[in-house]
Amino acid sequence: MALVRKTPRLGPADAPRRVAARRSARRAPTLDLRAYQVVIDAISDMVSVVSDDEVYWLVNDAWCRQTGVRRDDAIGRSVAEVLPGSITQRRRDTLNRTLRSGRVSVLRDAFDRGGVKQYLETIYSPVAEAVQGRRCVLLVTRDVTAEATALAAMLAGQTQTRALLDAFPGYIAACDEDHRYTYVNERLAQVLGRPLSELIGALRSEVLPPEHAASSVREAERALQGEQSISERHYAASAQRERLDLELRHVAGPEMADGRRSYYMFGVDITERKLAQEAAVAAKDEAERANRAKSRFLSLMSHELRTPMNAILGFAQLLLSDPAHPLSTEQQQHAGEILRGGRHLLSLINDVLDLSRIETGRLAITLAPVALLPLVEECLALMEPLARERPVHLKLGDRQTLQCQVQADPLRLRQALLNLLSNAIKYNRADGDVTVDARLLGEMVELRVIDTGIGITPDQVGRLFVAFERLGARRSGVEGTGIGLALSRHLVRAMGGEIGVDSALDSGSTFWIRLPRGARSGDPAAFAPVAAPPPGPARVERRRVLYVEDNRVNALLMHAMLARLPGVELEHVEDPIDAIERARATPPALLLLDIELPGIDGFELLKRLREHEHTRHIPAIAVSASAQPADIHRALKAGFSAYLTKPLDLTELLQAVQSHLRTQRSTQAG
Ligand code: ADP
Repeated sequence: MALVRKTPRLGPADAPRRVAARRSARRAPTLDLRAYQVVIDAISDMVSVVSDDEVYWLVNDAWCRQTGVRRDDAIGRSVAEVLPGSITQRRRDTLNRTLRSGRVSVLRDAFDRGGVKQYLETIYSPVAEAVQGRRCVLLVTRDVTAEATALAAMLAGQTQTRALLDAFPGYIAACDEDHRYTYVNERLAQVLGRPLSELIGALRSEVLPPEHAASSVREAERALQGEQSISERHYAASAQRERLDLELRHVAGPEMADGRRSYYMFGVDITERKLAQEAAVAAKDEAERANRAKSRFLSLMSHELRTPMNAILGFAQLLLSDPAHPLSTEQQQHAGEILRGGRHLLSLINDVLDLSRIETGRLAITLAPVALLPLVEECLALMEPLARERPVHLKLGDRQTLQCQVQADPLRLRQALLNLLSNAIKYNRADGDVTVDARLLGEMVELRVIDTGIGITPDQVGRLFVAFERLGARRSGVEGTGIGLALSRHLVRAMGGEIGVDSALDSGSTFWIRLPRGARSGDPAAFAPVAAPPPGPARVERRRVLYVEDNRVNALLMHAMLARLPGVELEHVEDPIDAIERARATPPALLLLDIELPGIDGFELLKRLREHEHTRHIPAIAVSASAQPADIHRALKAGFSAYLTKPLDLTELLQAVQSHLRTQRSTQAG
């Protein structure tokens, strides 16, 4: 822009002339700059041309409007004269800098306009040509108050957001799609162990520990694909930091200004939760270990107790049933007490073992349709001796409703029912009744044991099924352990059923077991197959039985028991290796093998006997103090044809030996 100033400038001494000269001088540039004036008046920003001596050469309409100064009063006058408040040192410096450098400068100023802040932005552009020997600057000034206020508010907002995110009790980062940090809150910077200035712009793979970098990037990629990504991160304790566990969430963020994608990472401190979980797992492990130790101890004790119990119960049975040497009435009573006490001890061992198996979740339950009537009849028959002692009358209810099947484990149902029956007898009055019946309840069958005994008060019912709870029965002198009902409830529940009682004091109790129906009542399939009657006594014939047992008392007992079977000749061998030789040399008709033997156990002994042609086909019965179902199962699988547990039941032993000898004879005959 070429600006022409027609009149020469006057010195300070020529004051009166100067004003007149200025008037004419002011007119001169206005005329010369008329062409420019039209253009710059069309501009809404304030425009002025100021010379290096700070005199106005040109102003536009917007300038006049904003400053309230008429054009004529400005042109040819100094800025200090026209707008004394607007000339600041910064403005002066900027003007001089623009003139000196010949480059454009921008200045933003704030003015106080009656208590209201006004922001002005002025662009200083040097005018290429000197005007009448003076260098000039074109000033374009814009009111940017609105913009500046918005920016200030935004910056204040950002500061607040930053403060908020830093104060947030979590870990926050924002990254671009190249996995460079664009934001990290202070808490996370501390964990990462680097100052914020180093983190912003750094790649996550450069910052994160190598073991976390790859997985973090993978999770971020998933988030960028729009998938939800949650993971956990463990930072081990170090000299700088305590252990830290984080739950991390990677979430897709908005598109960035340059069009690239972004994502956020939020971390929540879950160290407390992890510590609690670990403590719970450790406690559970410890409890399980203790439980396993308890079970091992119980099973060992049960084995150790069974061996002497074998002698106590075995000899008591022999004494009581020896036709050759009948006992006096008093002796019979004494031997009977030995037997009763021993059996009580044995049932206690069994119950405690069952309870411990339930607690450790190792009680095996095999569900199958079970015919109720035969099972009830069998249990009633077993309870008959106890009922006679009392005396209490055992009765069977409606046979028709009992002729159905339930879904149960027959062994365990029998155990629960026997317990209810023995209680109904024990806690009855003399000459009382015990009735067993059943009724259908939709898809369930309710088996009931109804007694006419002492009854139970409502407040006692809550404690009834608690282990070792006897509700004061200890004082009554009735024998018991307080385990039966607790065990029965566990068993019935394990079979998918429920057990309970309806009772009132002095008017008897009705204990019930509800189980799912096995088949429809009246359905022919619901009836249990009738067991074949036991075959009649065998003919007297000499048969040799080889018994391998390292315990002399057990051997003595076996001798005495088998002496009841005419024609059976027992040979006892203590050492299993000797037994193999004996059996090969003179094969016996039946083998009775203890399992826990010195050198090789009963399983190995059977295996070796099976390898030799002379002993391959001899039936073998395991005789062991281990009574766990798993042991029995293993023995039958290994080829034993029966498994008898110590303490031996005389009748059971004799029946087993007899039936095996009979089978053997018929096989040989065939
Ligand atoms: P136990 O009979 O060995 O004591 P149970 O667990 O079988 O243990 O029974 C717990 C307690 O419940 C018994 O001690 C007795 O006080 C009470 N109880 C059980 N059955 C009956 C019943 N039919 N009538 C009255 N009380 C009973």
